[in-house]
Amino acid sequence: MAVVNSVSGPIDTADLGFTLMHEHIMVQSPGVKENLPVMDREAEIQGAVQKLKDVQAHGVKTLVDLTPADWRDIPFVKEVVARSGMQVIVATGIYWEVPHYFRAFGLRSIDHIADLFVRDIRDGIMDTGVRAAIIKCATDEIGVTEDVERILRASGRAHRATGVPISTHTHAASQVGLKQQDVFESEGVDLSRVIIGHSGDSEDLDYLRCLMDRGSHIGMDRFGLDMLLPTEKRVATIARLCEMGYAEKMVLSHDAACYFEWADPALRKQVVPNWHFNHIPDDVIPALRDAGVSQEQIRAMTVDNPRRIFERQGSY
Ligand SMILES: [Zn+2]
Repeated sequence: MAVVNSVSGPIDTADLGFTLMHEHIMVQSPGVKENLPVMDREAEIQGAVQKLKDVQAHGVKTLVDLTPADWRDIPFVKEVVARSGMQVIVATGIYWEVPHYFRAFGLRSIDHIADLFVRDIRDGIMDTGVRAAIIKCATDEIGVTEDVERILRASGRAHRATGVPISTHTHAASQVGLKQQDVFESEGVDLSRVIIGHSGDSEDLDYLRCLMDRGSHIGMDRFGLDMLLPTEKRVATIARLCEMGYAEKMVLSHDAACYFEWADPALRKQVVPNWHFNHIPDDVIPALRDAGVSQEQIRAMTVDNPRRIFERQGSY
């Protein structure tokens, strides 16, 4: 039996079930709500609990919260998990807008950053008792800057020290997933233990196949963000890749959040009405079936691949 650490403690990987591999309980810029009265905490906890109960009723059993360490609020997540009963796995790691503490200028070593990630995974996050079980790192349109590269290298080293998987944010249009793979490879990372995220924003089959042919999984993980790419096109890309034999290399998600500070909730509902946790079970899976994707392939992308990713364990 393989075990993975969740917010509520260790769980058997056989019990992961239908897993959304890239979501968030809370997306909130570092320091804002801690210092300004912008959030009603209790109301937001209640709202999040409702959303997680709702998605469980739609058949989703586990949610991977890929909020990096500089953005997360583990006590909030812990409370939401306790009240909703959702299985949630949380991450360590740092976002692409690298905080000053981690930048090259300050001369703190890459190994020091890796040690902080390892601590989150082995000992737990601060005094919450919650252990991270995945490493998040990010590269956006500006690419692998010196500071971003430090975080990618620290992520690779923490991965090799702990064996937990790496899952990334990318700007797919500029194909930075390949550059992330280059950095990981130079750190001796087995690319099959990496998920290159936000790949579903791209319809470029050559790019996507190249990422997978190098061994990585890809995150088709922004369903509902139609202004980046509409659902029909995301579905057609996945169907085509399934036909080509890549069902074992893809995982599905929305990159949605219970609490999302970047935009007013009313505006969000108007601009991206399908950007919520139920969109995949309600709309995407029927659309994949209509596009010729088999039940086994759907099961691979929603259940078996997540399980396999978390079952590849051990340092190396
Ligand atoms: Zn995300």
